[in-house]
Amino acid sequence: MKYKYLSDSHTHSKCSFDGNDSVAMMCEKATNMGMYSLTVTDHCECNDYFKENLRESVFSSVIEIIKARALYNSRLRVYIGIELGQPNQDIDACRDALSLTDYDFVLGSLHNLKGEKDFYYLDYTPETVPSLLERYFDEMLDIVKMNNFDSLAHMTYPLRYICVKPGCKVNLKNYSEKIDEILELLIKNQKAIEINTSGLRQKIGKILPDESVIKRFRELGGKYVTLGSDAHRWGDIGSGIETGLDILNKCGFTHFTVFEKREPHLLPIL
Ligand SMILES: [Zn+2]
Ligand SMILES: [Zn+2]
Repeated sequence: MKYKYLSDSHTHSKCSFDGNDSVAMMCEKATNMGMYSLTVTDHCECNDYFKENLRESVFSSVIEIIKARALYNSRLRVYIGIELGQPNQDIDACRDALSLTDYDFVLGSLHNLKGEKDFYYLDYTPETVPSLLERYFDEMLDIVKMNNFDSLAHMTYPLRYICVKPGCKVNLKNYSEKIDEILELLIKNQKAIEINTSGLRQKIGKILPDESVIKRFRELGGKYVTLGSDAHRWGDIGSGIETGLDILNKCGFTHFTVFEKREPHLLPIL
């Protein structure tokens, strides 16, 4: 292990609809890797929360994390997280999910636009991509304005699916004003941005967001960056985190951030 405080702040257990393994298995893997901390952030898709009774799965996740935390107590810091998807699309769902326990960490994310399916399922053509991305950044800004999360997860998530379609190249410079607006508000609100390393093991082959966005975050005065593998199975816990730390360091940061009881803790990249 190259880094002393290796921490994965974005992971899913089988309490997520698309997760596979128990929290205990995930902790086992993290412990075997000599990790410093593991935050479990099961999905809470706010737009489906009441319709699909997601309170039950969110609550199961919290219980599983609390049990694993007791079990791994002396070997690993286990944090209670949640990934709030589309918080802008159902404010009551957000409030309800956030009232279920005292979380250590809340991720804010956007997997689908209002009235649309997850970006994973959409068809992309060079003609439709620009308006989808405009809408994506607009809704993301709405989420940042809500200010009820700690770190903004996988910004530019749609690129995971767009950039691998033939002819669908995206130049982020075309969206730089909107991206700056999002970054500036995050910084003003003392929030973190996430380096999501899932792209490193997918076809896109890069972190989300791009290194250029992380650099810009720093230029604008950003301080807090969390790192997450977005693992959906135990074998992916910690995957790409060291590469993420290399990139963060290259962007001029000397520290990364882990949240405990919703407070940012800066840990040195060493
Ligand atoms: Zn996500
Ligand atoms: Zn996730």
